[in-house]
Amino acid sequence: MRTPSPSQTQDEHSRASLELLYHISRELASALDLHEVLERILQLSVESVGGISGSIIVLDNHGNPVDSAMIHSGQVYNQTTDRLMDTIDKGLAGWVLQSREPVLIRDTSIDERWTKRPDDAPDRTGAKSAVSAPLLARQNLVGVITLVHPSPYTFNESHLELVQAIADVAGIAVLNARLYTESQNRARVMAALAESSLAITAALGAKDILQRVLEQVHQALQVEAVSLALITADKTELVIKAATGPVADEVIGLRLKMGEGIAGWVAREGKGAITPDTKKEPQFNQKVDRRTGFETRAIACAPIRSKGETIGVLEAINPVNGTFDPDALLLLNGIGSLAGSVLEQDQLLASLQAAKQSFQELFEDSIDPIVITDWEGNIVDVNRPATFAARRTKKELLGMTIHDLHEIDFEKVGGPQFSNLSKHEMAYYESALRPTPDTNIPIEVYVRQIILDEKKHLQWILRDISERKRLDTLRDDLISMIYHDLRSPLSNVLYSMDILASMLADESEKYKTLIDVAVRSAERIQRLTSSLLDIKRLEAGHSVLNRAPIEVVDIFVDAVDAIHPLAESKKQKVHTILPTGLPTLNVDGDMIRRVIINLLENAVKYTPVGCNITLGVAELEGGLEFWVEDDGPGIEPEQRDAIFNKYARLQKGGIGIGLGLAFCRLAVEGHGGRIWVESEVGKGSRFTFVLPVDETETAGEAIPL
Ligand code: ADP
Repeated sequence: MRTPSPSQTQDEHSRASLELLYHISRELASALDLHEVLERILQLSVESVGGISGSIIVLDNHGNPVDSAMIHSGQVYNQTTDRLMDTIDKGLAGWVLQSREPVLIRDTSIDERWTKRPDDAPDRTGAKSAVSAPLLARQNLVGVITLVHPSPYTFNESHLELVQAIADVAGIAVLNARLYTESQNRARVMAALAESSLAITAALGAKDILQRVLEQVHQALQVEAVSLALITADKTELVIKAATGPVADEVIGLRLKMGEGIAGWVAREGKGAITPDTKKEPQFNQKVDRRTGFETRAIACAPIRSKGETIGVLEAINPVNGTFDPDALLLLNGIGSLAGSVLEQDQLLASLQAAKQSFQELFEDSIDPIVITDWEGNIVDVNRPATFAARRTKKELLGMTIHDLHEIDFEKVGGPQFSNLSKHEMAYYESALRPTPDTNIPIEVYVRQIILDEKKHLQWILRDISERKRLDTLRDDLISMIYHDLRSPLSNVLYSMDILASMLADESEKYKTLIDVAVRSAERIQRLTSSLLDIKRLEAGHSVLNRAPIEVVDIFVDAVDAIHPLAESKKQKVHTILPTGLPTLNVDGDMIRRVIINLLENAVKYTPVGCNITLGVAELEGGLEFWVEDDGPGIEPEQRDAIFNKYARLQKGGIGIGLGLAFCRLAVEGHGGRIWVESEVGKGSRFTFVLPVDETETAGEAIPL
């Protein structure tokens, strides 16, 4: 294109203008890169209007310069905003922006709107005349274009018009390109943040996290140094925890007071800030630079936030290309809040790991073998005692199932699906551990659901009860021995007493009483030995064999007679409720008699002097209900089931060995019946048992015995 000289005719000007505008609009229609747009506008304008140099300044929505370009002798320079600040602040560009009017300066030496530079002196080649116009797009001021010429009076009104026409076309193109650049920057920030988030969350320990944060800032902002400081627990200081750059090692560990310097200010205010020139910033504190010898020229600083609170700051120092991008703070803020949430997660993770560690210690230190399985029963963890008990290594056990170790009581756990355990219940049963095919270790099993790594698991405690079982067997053996050794001599004693009593003359009443006492005592021992034998038999699963028809009244008479002297010695009254017309029982009469005597003896034994005891019977549909009631001390609720177990005794060092009620339960259940106790502590107890009968008859009235 030919460069028109200012002396050409008006027609030529108009043609040139149209040609130029056509070029500009065609060229700019598709250009989106802001620098490219600025460069083309400048080149085309200088070529068409004339002049040796020119500039374009681009403004953001708030009227602040965000980009610029200059052309001089055909050469285009970008990022010149710093150099153009003078003209924006107090020169021609500023004037045009303010007035939104184009300006023609025929002679720069006599126009005060022109800021004079040394280069503009008459003997130098600087600007002697200038034209400048605002770039407007849809009423928005988006920039200013200025062209200058080294000779005064070069430009005239038509040049001014041409520049304004160019500015009008260029305004839209610049706005589009600026918006595009902004959206590109935003996308870049988003991408950098997404990348940082991935890199930071992939880090494991806090130290690692801090290092990753610094690397991300370094990469995203292209700066000489980065540092990260955290606020101390008492919130009075900031401690630099991590740093990169030439003096990184020296700054780590340095402390800054809250509010001191730029970092201290950001930490206190919780707001990010960019300091383009530290020399012009009174808040800047030289303490750290003096110590390290490093020169901090520009700082971008953002808070690190966690749960809405500032916990530290991130500082990016000295951008490599001189100034921070406008989006630097946005990016730094983003990385700061990412770092905050990751540090927070890390803290949670640390406490979770501590909890896990203490669980692991408890697990390992337990004296009981513990096995953890999944819901299918596959073993996923075992403690050391479990490896000893199972006589296998942990590795071997991890390939096995809980079924391989012992037989599960499915009734207790709710079938193979362990349905009882999913309701947070604990199941208990006895079983045997089979570490080898020929070993059986008796165990009691406590199993319940636990949550491990957010998944449901089962925890099996397999407690070795060999020692307890050994003692039980010893006790059983001892009891059998006593029984066998006592039975025949006792029968002899009773037989001899009987003969002795019949041989005594009627007048020997006092001897008869003595013999009676001896007989009763011997009978008690006999009842005890018989009950011991029954316990053994019934426990072994034998059924009641000696069934014979017997009237309830006979059992009652014998039972009351047996305990009568004992009750009398404690001044206790024994009442009976015995309706007439009861059906005949078909039972082992001796056994049921001993059950009732046992209940009556307990009532006598465990109630104080003067208490009342009632023995009663009532007919039910299909059975008879017997009960022994007292107004003694009663039994605590949690003991009411346990007292029917063997060797269960509530009063330590008292009378009895805790077998009486165990016998009663075995005997009643052996007859297809049921026994239980109801009690109110301090008021008394009522032991009831029900025996089934085949035929029922109408119950009569209570008769006194
Ligand atoms: P023993 O009488 O030999 O201790 P039992 O099996 O007959 O054994 O009884 C078990 C426990 O139940 C007793 O030790 C006692 O503590 C409690 N017990 C039984 N009967 C009564 C009762 N009528 N009142 C209060 N406690 C009782």
